[in-house]
Amino acid sequence: MDDTIVAISTKLGKGAISIIRLSGEKSIEIVNKLFKGKDLTKVKSHTIHYGFINDGKNDIDEVLVTIMLAPKTFTRENVVEINCHGGIAPTLKIFELLTENGARIANPGEFTKRAFLNGRIDLTQAEAVMDIISSKTENARKMALSLVEGNLKKYINTFRDKLKYLLANIEVNIDYPEYYDIEEITKEQLKETIKNLEQDLKELIKKSEERQIIKNGIKTIIIGKPNVGKSSILNTFLKEEKAIVTDIAGTTRDIVEGKIIFDGIELSLIDTAGIRKTDDVVEKIGVNKSISLIDEADLIIVVLNSNEELNESDKYILNKVKNKNPIIVLNKNDLQLKINKKDLKFKHIVSTNTNSLEGITPLKNEIKEMFKLQELQEEDYTYLSNNRQLILAKKALASLKDAKMSLLNEEPIDIIEIDLKEVFDILGTITGESYSDELLDELFASFCVGK
Ligand code: GDP
Repeated sequence: MDDTIVAISTKLGKGAISIIRLSGEKSIEIVNKLFKGKDLTKVKSHTIHYGFINDGKNDIDEVLVTIMLAPKTFTRENVVEINCHGGIAPTLKIFELLTENGARIANPGEFTKRAFLNGRIDLTQAEAVMDIISSKTENARKMALSLVEGNLKKYINTFRDKLKYLLANIEVNIDYPEYYDIEEITKEQLKETIKNLEQDLKELIKKSEERQIIKNGIKTIIIGKPNVGKSSILNTFLKEEKAIVTDIAGTTRDIVEGKIIFDGIELSLIDTAGIRKTDDVVEKIGVNKSISLIDEADLIIVVLNSNEELNESDKYILNKVKNKNPIIVLNKNDLQLKINKKDLKFKHIVSTNTNSLEGITPLKNEIKEMFKLQELQEEDYTYLSNNRQLILAKKALASLKDAKMSLLNEEPIDIIEIDLKEVFDILGTITGESYSDELLDELFASFCVGK
């Protein structure tokens, strides 16, 4: 971390401005060598300066340079940002000159990694930085921002503080066993606190799992045999003609996808190839793919033609999704009903007509209800936001349960202490109190360059 890093922080292309960012002790010195204007080594922190980048012979571009001195910067190191004209040639030329003058090209996420290593943010905040960049909906942005502001870190730390208090009490108990009542108090306190912690942690995990859709959206597949109206359903959702709607059975062979923002949540819809027994090779590939998508989907919409009795293909599909809580759409309800609803042993059944749009609002409401979308918008947004955090929280919960069992089994108090210490440590790895280099490399590798 001793060297000074540089990256182009904006998207490289034709635009109004590009920002090239440096971080490290020598940031100002390096830029000053190339800057025609004020002496940047003498200016105050958090100031902006007009001038030119010059390669020693010629001016390269007219720029504005922002100087930010450590420690009040994103990385807690000296940071310089050069705003140049947003063309590929000036941006790359300035970038190249900076590298020739002592700056090293930054790895993906290296600025954020430095912010973490220098203690400005914890791991949940670092992860949330990337979430903000990738957020596509208002809800996803709010959730990421809540984490960037450190709300998850604070919440996790309240757990750790309670555990720290308990562990301190246990230590006293072990060190001064002659005070009988200390042990009594400790055990009572332990029972109560462990019960509460378990409850809160369980709740956090449950809610966080439900809330993953805020970030990841609801992956929805629309399946059914050919010609039942899958593409029509997709189109009414997308309100544009992205899928091919046709009368010839089996024409939607490719998987057609579309995304909409639905009550603040991204709903990605995949219209699958019509499922039916087929010898057509191309269609067969599509059918297999459709079936394989069932397991990956958060929501399955099975479309049936209500004007036809259930045939083998329908039954095959219904059997495949019977444990997946699908929504069954009885489409073409303008025609005579030939399906006996009693044969459909499913909780969510909606009857639609894609021509008059009858039933489309109830279908949307069904989705809203299934995923409790209304609730998602009203609450605060402090959740575990990715698999890494969720897995660790579950591990912490398991150790907490071990501690509870040890307590119930009247095990010696130092056994309970080991379990509680483990919970404390695992929660600490969520925020990055302890971490491995491997974890950091993996985590920041998924970041953008320049962030
Ligand atoms: P897919 O093969 O399942 O994707 O089915 P399509 O969406 O391509 O629709 C097949 C045919 O059914 C088209 O001719 C549509 O116009 C027609 N269709 C779709 N929805 C309805 C409906 O609600 N009522 C009626 N009567 N016809 C429909």
